[in-house]
Amino acid sequence: MEKSHQNFCSQGCSEPSNLVSEDGKNTKSVVCQLCGSKVLCPGMAVFAEKRVFLPSLKKNINQSDGTLDGDTLTAHWLVDDMYTFENVGFTKDVGKIKYLICADCEIGPIGWHNLDDKKCFYIALDRVKHV
Ligand SMILES: [Zn+2]
Repeated sequence: MEKSHQNFCSQGCSEPSNLVSEDGKNTKSVVCQLCGSKVLCPGMAVFAEKRVFLPSLKKNINQSDGTLDGDTLTAHWLVDDMYTFENVGFTKDVGKIKYLICADCEIGPIGWHNLDDKKCFYIALDRVKHV
């Protein structure tokens, strides 16, 4: 029997079981890593695995173009309606993608949205804090 609860994230965050409820929803509030602005309330998003490349987290992402620094992320919170968010901002379109950014401090991207799929808004678990 393993009783240690001390090792969250020590193995790469691939199994965020303490963040996902039995019905696949977020158990905690999702907030901005930098300023703590609330993005989602508990129970408002569904855990989804999808491999997506996101540019590195930074401010003023709208002003950076051509840089390909970033991460391929697989763990996301999926929301089907933008009004589900407490606070979120969007970048201008990048092709058919809009990136989601913090509405307060504008750090991003914390997630993304495909203009072809109006009911899919993704927030990357690695780009936000859970409180
Ligand atoms: Zn913020």
